[in-house]
Amino acid sequence: MRSSNEKVESWVPRTKLGKMVLDGTISSIEELFMEGLKIREPEIVDVLLPGLQEEVINIGLVQKQTDAGEKSQFRAVVVVGNRDGYVGLASGKASQVRSAIEKAAVNARLSITPVRRGCGSWECGCGKHHSMPFKVSGECGGVEVVLIPGPRGLGLVASETAKLILGLAGVKDCWMTSYGSTRTVPSFAFAVFDALKKTYLLVTPGDWVS
Ligand SMILES: [Zn+2]
Repeated sequence: MRSSNEKVESWVPRTKLGKMVLDGTISSIEELFMEGLKIREPEIVDVLLPGLQEEVINIGLVQKQTDAGEKSQFRAVVVVGNRDGYVGLASGKASQVRSAIEKAAVNARLSITPVRRGCGSWECGCGKHHSMPFKVSGECGGVEVVLIPGPRGLGLVASETAKLILGLAGVKDCWMTSYGSTRTVPSFAFAVFDALKKTYLLVTPGDWVS
């Protein structure tokens, strides 16, 4: 697999946004989200978030109906993040494991989202961005997770899959509770991602002040 650097060096942007990122007209990922611009090329994320890390969360076998009958495919779920407020998570399907991972890695970059962090814990009150800003829930395929702000030094009180996603998002301390078929790893991972996305999408009363 080629590294992100090699991909960026040989990148020929196909979109206007891609060209603006490559020539430096746009130099921060914050600008994209403030302007509501849609990312259509994964290299945009690699250029704007140079410290991006990638982890494979799950690989499963799925059946697909085709004209020729049933066909097995691999489905990979990949998470990417810079450990500082940006995370993306997506799946990719292909007949080879490696291609499924590559597709998922591209889709994860295209799904990248800012995560609002904070010190929402009444026990802490340090005001630093180490935890969740408030209690937030997410769901996917019958799985519901709730992320609860925690004090500094608590760590991530969550399952291994959730720790991986929260860590790449840059959340250091929080509690998590979950309901439903939490052993279905893809649904569980997407539920955690859904909760993280909501930290950015939900407008809280505090946003109206100032
Ligand atoms: Zn705190």
